[in-house]
Amino acid sequence: MALNAIVSGASRGIGRSIAHRLAREGYSVGINDIPEASADIDNVISEINSILSFQHSKPRPGAVALPGDVSSSSDVASMVSKAVTKLGPLTLMVANAGIAPVTPLLLSSTEEVDRILGINVRGVFNCYTEAAKQMISQGDIALGAGITRYKLVGAASIAAFRAFPGCGIYSASKFAVRGLTQATAAEMARHNITVNAYAPGIVGTPMWDEVDEGIGEIEGRPKGKTLEAYSKGIPLGRAGVPEDVAGLVGGFLASKDSDYVTGQTMLVDGGIVFN
Ligand code: NAD
Repeated sequence: MALNAIVSGASRGIGRSIAHRLAREGYSVGINDIPEASADIDNVISEINSILSFQHSKPRPGAVALPGDVSSSSDVASMVSKAVTKLGPLTLMVANAGIAPVTPLLLSSTEEVDRILGINVRGVFNCYTEAAKQMISQGDIALGAGITRYKLVGAASIAAFRAFPGCGIYSASKFAVRGLTQATAAEMARHNITVNAYAPGIVGTPMWDEVDEGIGEIEGRPKGKTLEAYSKGIPLGRAGVPEDVAGLVGGFLASKDSDYVTGQTMLVDGGIVFN
């Protein structure tokens, strides 16, 4: 059986890097992002297909585009069914898509709260449950590469362990991802599906450019200086790069080495938060 994954929010940043790593580890990958990011989705697909053209492994479908909004359950159901049609049985879902607007709690509108929770929590719920339904319907298949379990993986954050001012609803959404990951792991164990989350710290991506600007405005720092200031306190001495997270997700959580791990949220943050 071939290894087939979907990565949501994979047109850039951490998701793109995870998709690259999965391709190198032998996966075919469905690249999801919002339809407005179609050009970036296509770029990631070309990058992956050129990585694969240098590999001498047996031919596999490579990467396919799965545009859609993860906060919509019907979009996620279509993504899953398109991935299965184009790639084959789904063996891994990485629910990576998320947003991190910086808004102090007293200025957060109901619409903003619903938007953040809709993408960061309902989006992960949709990805976990639609993928799980598909995996259960596929039955107890041999997964390949020595892997014995289907895998669901979600994006949490250091903010899932410690709340930061200006990111209150974001923190609440990421605490919820931890809870959802534990609950889904408990319910899916009997279906031979493991469920884990990754918790990056400060990673240089377009998301952090926006966070830098938002926190900079609140704390009175010019653009670019907040990332610099926050990175100074990281015990391992630097901000993260997307490949740090892709190592945990694509290298470990997507491999047979994680077959006996479930319900965990793993920090990959250079030591900002110890748990
Ligand atoms: P990013 O903003 O660079 O990329 C996120 C991608 O998700 C974007 O391409 C965006 O278009 C997509 N997306 C947003 N809403 C979507 C939706 N409704 N449906 C489908 N796709 C959608 O962010 P990133 O830094 O790569 O972060 C990836 C994940 O890691 C997020 O869940 C984020 O919360 C988490 N995270 C990031 C950091 C960091 O420092 N960058 C730290 C902790 C956690």
